[in-house]
Amino acid sequence: MSTIEQTTEKPGNGARAQDSIAVENPATGEIIGHVPNLSREQIEDRVRRARAAQPGWEALGFKGRARVMLAMRQWIVENRERVIETLVSESGKTYEDALLQEVLYSVHSLGFWAKKAERYLRDERIRPQSWLDFGKKLVLRYRPVGVVGVIGPWNYPIVNNFGDCIPALMAGNAVVLKPSSVTPFSSLLMAEGLKASGLPDDVFHVATGAGGAGGVLVDNCDMIMFTGSTETGRKVAEQAARRLIPVSLELGGKDPMIVLEDADLERAANAAVTYAFSNGGQTCISIERVYVHEKIYDEFVEKVTEKARQLRQGKPDGAGSVDIGAITFEDQMEVLERHVADAREKGARILTGGKRREGAGRFFEPTVLADVDHSMLIMTEETFGPTLPIMKVRDEAEAVRLANDSPYGLDSSVWSRNVARAEKVARQVQAGATCVNDALVNYFALGQPFGGVKESGLGARHGAKGIQKYCRTHSILVTRFGPRRDPNYLPYRKSRTRLLERLIAFQFGRGKARRSA
Ligand code: NAD
Repeated sequence: MSTIEQTTEKPGNGARAQDSIAVENPATGEIIGHVPNLSREQIEDRVRRARAAQPGWEALGFKGRARVMLAMRQWIVENRERVIETLVSESGKTYEDALLQEVLYSVHSLGFWAKKAERYLRDERIRPQSWLDFGKKLVLRYRPVGVVGVIGPWNYPIVNNFGDCIPALMAGNAVVLKPSSVTPFSSLLMAEGLKASGLPDDVFHVATGAGGAGGVLVDNCDMIMFTGSTETGRKVAEQAARRLIPVSLELGGKDPMIVLEDADLERAANAAVTYAFSNGGQTCISIERVYVHEKIYDEFVEKVTEKARQLRQGKPDGAGSVDIGAITFEDQMEVLERHVADAREKGARILTGGKRREGAGRFFEPTVLADVDHSMLIMTEETFGPTLPIMKVRDEAEAVRLANDSPYGLDSSVWSRNVARAEKVARQVQAGATCVNDALVNYFALGQPFGGVKESGLGARHGAKGIQKYCRTHSILVTRFGPRRDPNYLPYRKSRTRLLERLIAFQFGRGKARRSA
């Protein structure tokens, strides 16, 4: 069997044998199991089998596919303890991060796509626009691309892995999912659930392996849905361009929070702490930097620091046991330590946290930093951990300018009691999404497209766009009634050409004449 070319990604946190990958519990350091490190041939075989199974799945129609999705929703609810346990043990996230983000998103999403897919993908009738298409029937159809390769990250082993498979499947595609080698067990569990929910054989596969396994999907699938870092997303896009297959990219972020002087400070401070630290800050749309008006800066910083100091961190042990879990991926710890050290050296005040926690497991203390600026890595590069740097700004214009001073543009938020003012500010933020007086929850607004701009991605998930992207379009024009010969048919005749010429001059020449008159 040929080996897959290696990438810079370390395969899992644990040691790797030739044909298996060890998976570690980051909260304890224990190896919890192994998954196969599949060869190129094994992955290609899965794609071939998925391709063979796809027409039968498509033929089931929306209602038949929806039945499987709704059965899967039921399966997840009934097996939620096992799902949560799997998520917690391979990622080190808390019980609540697993339940209220991963489980809730998946069951909400299964129901949403089961209900909405048909509406988003039904034939669209297009109105004729001129005498050129007058009398024609114009239809736009959506057809599944075939086999979708979904490549996912480690921070949300269900939301950003299986979550993107749901609309792809509802559109009538077969799917091969390549989860991160750090957290593969949740995806394997979802495959088990789909089988128990009546999904026909081979429609869904999980291809475990390191980064190279993702590359095999790009070489073999008909479309790639990628979620991960901007660096890897760029490689995936380049590789996909060679085959001219579509890619949808959900990449890194550095989400700004803008707090205006008339904000509800208590709500804003609670939200800052929640949305910077939940999931250990390992969320692509975490609040990564905060800009606060100078009039309320000190009060806001004090509130946030006080709330952060009260958070409990440690090995998750059931509901309500801890607020912040572990750092899932070993390499992330180095980024956190480097960003905090750089900020400290350049004059930031570390008000709480700032270091790795002593003892077993891999934990970084929830960290609040004040007096930060854009000379610091923590304000300009994705940190992806439990850090909350807060910068003082003179006014709203400075806040917007700094928020936009980033290569990223994923989510963002603006906080003010004056909603009209906040919405006006929101419209100036360069991001794929902006919340007013909220953050992150827009990810659960499944009817609204969500995606990044600038280096945060291409394309979107959710809403009509979030399922139409898994289709190729097919435009059909039907001429129901026509003369034996249209005026433009060969052979050309001077009289017909003159007639058409007059028509062109009449329709397209009048406006210009009027404008120049
Ligand atoms: P990553 O880019 O290292 O890996 C993502 C996936 O790509 C993994 O499955 C990995 O094995 C695979 N991969 C690695 N090299 C590859 C290659 N050459 N070809 C194909 N696949 C390859 O990202 P990560 O560290 O797992 O995840 C963290 C990143 O994901 C952060 O930057 C975060 O912001 C981003 N993220 C974005 C979103 C979003 O919706 N925009 C959501 C979650 C995470």
